[in-house]
Amino acid sequence: QGKEIPYDPETLRRIKEHPCFSEKACHAFGRAHLAVAPKCNIQCNYCVRDFDCVNESRPGVTSEVLSPGDGVARVREVMEKFPYVKVIGIAGPGEPLANPETLETMRLVHEEFPHLILCLSTNGLMLPEYIDELVKYDVYNLTVTLNAIDPEIGAKIYSHVTYKGKKYEGVEGAKILLEQQLKGIQMAVERKMIVKINTVYIPGVNDEHIPEIAKKVGAMGVYNFNIIPLIPQYKFEGVTPPTPAMKRAMHDRCAPYVKQMKHCQRCRADAVGKLGQDMQSCLSHGCGEKKE
Ligand code: SF4
Ligand code: SF4
Repeated sequence: QGKEIPYDPETLRRIKEHPCFSEKACHAFGRAHLAVAPKCNIQCNYCVRDFDCVNESRPGVTSEVLSPGDGVARVREVMEKFPYVKVIGIAGPGEPLANPETLETMRLVHEEFPHLILCLSTNGLMLPEYIDELVKYDVYNLTVTLNAIDPEIGAKIYSHVTYKGKKYEGVEGAKILLEQQLKGIQMAVERKMIVKINTVYIPGVNDEHIPEIAKKVGAMGVYNFNIIPLIPQYKFEGVTPPTPAMKRAMHDRCAPYVKQMKHCQRCRADAVGKLGQDMQSCLSHGCGEKKE
C-alpha cells in the first residue's frame, strides 16, 4: 500500500496519537477543531457557503467563528476538560489557508502547547506558499482534499478558483488548483509531513477516476486516503450519493495503491473529543450532551 517510508519516532507519535491517521488512536485519543477560518478561495459545486467545509467536515451546521485568541482560550478549556485530546486541528468552516487567522492561531497554540499535535486540512490552493510557515509551527499532520487529477474532471467539480487576486473558471481554474495541490503535496512529503488525501466520491463525475487519484498520491508518498461520499447539495443536489457498498468497493479498488482510512466521521469544523463522540456542547453550553 503506497510507498514504504521509514518513520522517525516523532513522526510515529504523530501517527499513533492522531485519531484520523491511526484507527487505534481514535478509541484512546481525541482531537479538537478550532473554527477560525470562515473564508474560502474556491467554489466547490457541492458546497453551500455558510456551512462547514466539506474538506473536513459535515455540512448542515454552521459554526461559531473564533478569533485566534479565542482559539487558544478554547484549547486551554479543552485541555482542562478533555486531557485525552492530543490533536488541535484547523479545518474550516471555510478554507484554512485563505484566512491569515489560521497561521496566527497555529503560532499561538504552538507557543503555549508545544506538546500538542497540530493538524491542518486544506484544499491545497495556497499550500506551496504557506508550507514553510506550517513547518515553523510544527504542523506536520496535513490533509489535502483532492477530487480530480484531470483538469477536465476538476472543471465539473469547481465553479471557480481565486488565485493571487484573480478569479479563474472552468478548466483554467481547475488546472491552477491541481498544479498547486500536487506541488503542495510533493513539498509536504519532502518535509516529512504525514499527508492524508480526502477525495469526495461524486457518482457520475469523478467515480471512475478515483483509483487513478489513489495511484498518483500513493506513488507520491502520502500516508493515507479518505474517500468521502458526496453530500448532495448546491449544484450536485440532484446527484445520488454512493451507497456504503459502493464506498467499500471503491476502497478495495484504491487499496493496492495507498492505505485506506475507513473510519472518518465527517466532523464539524468545531468538533471536540473522540471521533464520533463529540462534546462541543459541553464547552458551549455546559450541558454535556452530544451536539448534532
Ligand atoms: Fe466549500 Fe471547502 Fe470547497 Fe471552500 S474548499 S468551497 S469551503 S467545500
Ligand atoms: Fe478525522 Fe474525518 Fe473528522 Fe477529519 S472529518 S477529523 S479526517 S474523522
